[in-house]
Amino acid sequence: MKLIYDERFRGSSYAQDNAAMPGRMEAALSGLGGTAWERVAPPAATLEQLHLAHDPAYVQTVVEDPERFAMASLAAGGAILAGRLAHGGDPAFACIRPPGHHASRMGAWGHCTFSNLALALLVLRAERRIESAFVIDFDAHTGDGTRDVLAGWPQAEIFNPFAATAEEYLALVEVRLAAIGQADILAVSAGFDAYKLDVGHKLDTPDFGSLGTLIREASVRHCRGRRFAVLEGGYYLKDLGANVLAFCQGFAG
Ligand SMILES: [Zn+2]
Repeated sequence: MKLIYDERFRGSSYAQDNAAMPGRMEAALSGLGGTAWERVAPPAATLEQLHLAHDPAYVQTVVEDPERFAMASLAAGGAILAGRLAHGGDPAFACIRPPGHHASRMGAWGHCTFSNLALALLVLRAERRIESAFVIDFDAHTGDGTRDVLAGWPQAEIFNPFAATAEEYLALVEVRLAAIGQADILAVSAGFDAYKLDVGHKLDTPDFGSLGTLIREASVRHCRGRRFAVLEGGYYLKDLGANVLAFCQGFAG
């Protein structure tokens, strides 16, 4: 597996933005230091690529805030690189910010700017590498932006699991992943805010490992093993590294 990361993600100038809070990216990466996964820095997404997912007028509003654009286009480029690596047979986890699943064609909210995961899939489709995709978004919040950006693509299925307890949640995921059918790639919006001490108040650290394992096994069964994940939410910094590591271990296999 490859880790997509750039040192510039560490910086923070939006103090009131949860996704950019000081120390968050360090926390997300803290469990991965002892692993053998190679880190790869991404190129930023180009305007041409961003226009696959977003209205040019919206992209222009971001361009006019150079600091925001630099970070968001780098995050989008990280997701694109993760998708490319996954398509080539290397599973990938993109540890990026800002997150993307609340970014729609015309705008964004919830700490997001560009629709990183959806854009990565649209780039692969534009390059004629894929025709279909399955998305699982296990963030505590619905990926409304991903749904909006992929709305015109019926062969891109999106699954946001919701259940009352962790046991029911994992059972629901297992059942749904067994019923995917064939897809050209499996993409994951990996949000860690469903953690028991985060806003979602549900999953424990080993549950993120189980999610990673279930998703890896599904990708092998249904998607020729092609899989990539991008970081979305997750704000309980003390345990974020352990949760990211647990997921990545299950996901990498
Ligand atoms: Zn969230």
